[in-house]
Amino acid sequence: MEEEFIYLRRDSDIEDRVEDLLNRLKIEEKILLIRGRDFWTTKPIERLKIPSFGMTDGPIGVAYHSSFKGKRTRFPATIGLASTWNKDLAFKMGEVLGKEVKLSGRHQILGPGVNIIRSPLCGRNFEYLSEDPVLSSDIAAEVVKGIQSQGIASCIKHYLTNNSETKRMKISTEISERALQEIYIKNYKRIIEKADPWGLMVCYNKINGVYGAENKYVLREVLRDQIGFTGHVVTDWFAARRTSGATGCIKAGLSLEMPGMFLNKIMSRKNVIKALKNGEINEDDLNYIVRPLLRTFIRVGLLGEKRERIESNIDIPEHQEVAKQIAEESMVLLKNESNILPISIHAIKKLAILGPNAKKVFGKPLHGGSSAVVPPKEITPYEGISKYVDGKVEIVTKPEEADVVLLFVGLNHRGHMYLNLILKKEGDTEGNDRKHYELPIKQQKLINKTLLKNPNTVVILIAGSPIDVSEWFEDVPAILNAWYPGMMGGNALARVLFGEINPSGKLPVTYPKRLEDHPAHKSKKRFPGDLKEFKIYFDEGIYVGYRYFDKNHVDPFFPFGYGLSYTRFKMSNIKLDKPNLKGQETFTVSVDVKNIGDKSGAEVIQIYVADDKCSVDRPNKELQAFEKVYLKPGEEKTISITLTESAFEFYSDIEHKFVAETGTFTIWAGSSSRDLPLHAKINYSK
Ligand code: BGC
Repeated sequence: MEEEFIYLRRDSDIEDRVEDLLNRLKIEEKILLIRGRDFWTTKPIERLKIPSFGMTDGPIGVAYHSSFKGKRTRFPATIGLASTWNKDLAFKMGEVLGKEVKLSGRHQILGPGVNIIRSPLCGRNFEYLSEDPVLSSDIAAEVVKGIQSQGIASCIKHYLTNNSETKRMKISTEISERALQEIYIKNYKRIIEKADPWGLMVCYNKINGVYGAENKYVLREVLRDQIGFTGHVVTDWFAARRTSGATGCIKAGLSLEMPGMFLNKIMSRKNVIKALKNGEINEDDLNYIVRPLLRTFIRVGLLGEKRERIESNIDIPEHQEVAKQIAEESMVLLKNESNILPISIHAIKKLAILGPNAKKVFGKPLHGGSSAVVPPKEITPYEGISKYVDGKVEIVTKPEEADVVLLFVGLNHRGHMYLNLILKKEGDTEGNDRKHYELPIKQQKLINKTLLKNPNTVVILIAGSPIDVSEWFEDVPAILNAWYPGMMGGNALARVLFGEINPSGKLPVTYPKRLEDHPAHKSKKRFPGDLKEFKIYFDEGIYVGYRYFDKNHVDPFFPFGYGLSYTRFKMSNIKLDKPNLKGQETFTVSVDVKNIGDKSGAEVIQIYVADDKCSVDRPNKELQAFEKVYLKPGEEKTISITLTESAFEFYSDIEHKFVAETGTFTIWAGSSSRDLPLHAKINYSK
């Protein structure tokens, strides 16, 4: 039977459906929709068959606390996903997220988290992707596409400049227009252009003095008018509370205040009616914020929806396989002296699996904050490795007894988030930043002590942020950075350490030699900020991460894009399909890559672009594209990557837009930001 109302007809044009529904809603009903009903859902409007819209936390899986306390697939930390530099895996992860959100009876996942990793110390680095907007957005866009391919809304967060946790509810980011646009907004802009996310979450902090939830410049002028975002904007939880009120939020274009509870009622019926009555807002303002919300409702198939069965626990091997693949490709081999790795299972008799993170389970309710996913099982490094070598190698407990020691150190999520907020524990956790770049003293001592007993000690870092390795780097023959490898981590680690999988992860962030070398740590004002004034100064401007290290000739400990392999690759023969580019044309860079070692493996071809001469100061080079390639020993492939003039752009604070200037550009290709053996030149004219 055909539905009588256009908005209920699934085959009608989406914008017609949105307008039809908007016209049918009474003002009172619109007001009901813009504030949540409870912690995770909106209010239904039965008269018009609009069910309640349900959200759940992400981004490393479907979080436990927001999905009826159900166990779900726990993925590696998303900084690890970024380390794969593998867009297909990012899409696959998104697909699984979408499927599990649906099985959880929700319509939207609050992720991916895409804040730029500005400092090694941010407590939420593990939930984010990279210091670079191109890597961050290219990976995040695939996650978004994967989620939305399942008819589930994504929600990119936390817009904008929530790049640290200290005083996040009060602090104001002080930042230039150019840095805001060229680094932070560009990240969102590219995701929106590539993947059209259906939702976006604002930050807690202020941006140049105005809270994200009511910041008209970032929410309306930039997000809607410049970028053309079509999704709805939701607060971070309780983020509207500190704003000037309903009028400010509505005028800025905020669609939904969450959660709906008595402690949180800025966009309450009373406040909104009052604002309407005294003429501060009118119905057009309401329509402006309700329209995108209705669009999301239609996109997720909410209207007239028949609910599927909600699973209490999800334990699907194919989903867990994706988590395992990501873990395997996320691991970054930082050092491998005399090829101590991979370990030959036949060459050793005794193995010690030691350290505080060897047997640690990370997936517990609210551990690390709102991203906490509790999986049906979590294979620890100890469990995965001891099972892998079972019957072939003896596991011993004393380092001096072993042929090889695997020492698992790093950080952790420091327990339950709410307790953390009070105890201010340091680690990878929402609500607090780390105070130290080094490992806890106890762990440093443990490394040194173990090395004295057995020099064949491989250090494996389990952490969600960069860590200072300088104290013990020289003495350790091999270091593997495994991030938080998720529920299948132990199995993935075994396969990497014993050579079934060749590590191919590349760092999505720069590791400084010392914290003082890092652009975000040149002063306390920059990080954690002036905590009396509640201001954090992004004085490094556009020189975030490797952009700073390059420009100022500072040697990093490990550069952006770095990661070793068990084999070796050679890149050669860079070619551009044209020497001159005009206007909106595209051009293609091609590079030959050959596996010149004796093991199969994968390499990431990283393309950076430098502006040879420009009217403004620019980074020495910037990542513009990348591609991961898999090669057998002796195999060679030609990789072609197509770019547009956007690879030449910078943000002009005179013209207030991205511009590309006429001139010559150098296209660099290689395997890290500090290993770029190939280059070619191209002339650009408008
Ligand atoms: C976090 C968000 C999260 C929300 C809901 C906030 O504390 O910053 O990332 O989605 O809570 O749990």
